[in-house]
Amino acid sequence: MKVGVLALQGAYAAHAACLRSLGAEAREVRTPADLAEVDALVLPGGESTTMSMLLASAELFEPLAERLADGLPALGTCAGMILLGAEILDGRADQRCLGAVDISVRRNAFGRQIDSFEADLAVDDLEGGPFRAVFIRAPFVERAGPDVEVLATVDGHPVLCRQGTVTVAAFHPELSHDLRLHDHFLKGI
Ligand code: GLN
Repeated sequence: MKVGVLALQGAYAAHAACLRSLGAEAREVRTPADLAEVDALVLPGGESTTMSMLLASAELFEPLAERLADGLPALGTCAGMILLGAEILDGRADQRCLGAVDISVRRNAFGRQIDSFEADLAVDDLEGGPFRAVFIRAPFVERAGPDVEVLATVDGHPVLCRQGTVTVAAFHPELSHDLRLHDHFLKGI
């Protein structure tokens, strides 16, 4: 099982390290050929406007949308959540999303960089107590469609959701020294 990490921009190296420490074969994905070789994909945090642009210039946007439509398991965190959603609120006009999860995601919903924070999340499905989550200029989900499971919220706003084999988190699990979400993702592939 080869697990790709979209490595165009952002926090991809930390995700790859988490996956490797769980025994997975992590591969950095930068080209359509890289994408074709992986069985699952992590879309990291970073800057969703830049990633949207780089996905287009790398000619990865369409092949990735097709793989997702065919059921590619994916984990998107922060900017990765924005990219995997169906609608972006407060996005840039030219910014695109992949529509793998039926959610409307508001960018920078908790405020600016200075409003970044950590929170102990009660996560449905995760054993072993709350998950310490790091939110960095994070989005939240403003609308979740009927097929979307909401697994955790902050102040009533969904921040961890799943639809089929795609999980999206508004926070950065790769920064928490807690591998449970990555482990859960790998077990679901
Ligand atoms: N604010 C960023 C965006 O809109 C996301 C921040 C992050 O990934 N930590 O893309």
